[in-house]
Formats: sequence, structure tokens, C-alpha cells
Amino acid sequence: MSEATPIRGSCLCGGVTFELVPPTDFVAHCHCKSCRLSHGAAFVTWTGVPMARFRLTAGETLLKWYASSAWIEWGFCSVCGSSMLYRAVAEGHPEAPKVDRMYVTAASLVDPLDKPPLVHVSWEEHLPWLSIPDGLPKHRGKTAERIE
Ligand SMILES: [Zn+2]
Ligand SMILES: [Zn+2]
Repeated sequence: MSEATPIRGSCLCGGVTFELVPPTDFVAHCHCKSCRLSHGAAFVTWTGVPMARFRLTAGETLLKWYASSAWIEWGFCSVCGSSMLYRAVAEGHPEAPKVDRMYVTAASLVDPLDKPPLVHVSWEEHLPWLSIPDGLPKHRGKTAERIE
């Protein structure tokens, strides 16, 4: 089996670059308040890969991690402020993000993703002025419960 071509990603200033080797686990739009505030965006589109298939290719000293709780860290570039990464550093978070995964914002990728987004999660927290008539299922939290 030949090795899959890595998907490259970058922050705005280009100081932090990384790559992930497909296949990705999923691609989903998240509407939770934490994602919105962390990114200053209406929602954040995430993908993820096993940690072993994620590699930082530049900017190790520029990449900083903000711990929002005992479980979660958000990775961002300390020069330009781009938020790109998310990881669980301990078991026990109510939404059970996987500790062996690196979660990556799909919009930080400079190469095409291997699959399209298939779901909206934490839709119960979506901004009231946001309308997304894309036909994709909208779930409560990170559960499989479809609410729209
Ligand atoms: Zn940067
Ligand atoms: Zn979220």
C-alpha cells in the first residue's frame, strides 16, 4: 500500500505549518460557544486524525496551547493568532474528545480535504442570526441525536 499524500496546513503568518496524513476521521461544523469564542467565528469546521498521522513541520516554538480546562488545549500561533488545533490532554471531558487524536480546523488546511463536512454538531448553541440551508443533519452536542 502506498503512503497517502499529506494534507498541509498553516497559520496566517506561515510561521506554524503542519501536515496530516489522510484518511481523516471526520469533518464536522461545530457551533459550540467555546469554538465560536476561541476563533471569533460563527462556527468552526473540524477534522481529526490519530496523533501518529499529525506532524508539525515548522514553528514548534511559535505554537502555543491555551488550556481551557483540565482536559482541553487549543493550539494557536503566538505571532499571528491563528487558532488551528485542539487536543484532549486527559480523559474525562463530558463530550469525550479522544486523547489520541489531533483535531485540526479544516479552514487552516491549504490542500484539499479528503472528504466533505457531513454534519453540524452542537447545533443547539448556534448563533440565532445564522442560517445554514445545506441539508446536512444538525445534532445536539457531539451526540448522534438529530435536532434539525
Ligand atoms: Zn502565525
Ligand atoms: Zn465546538
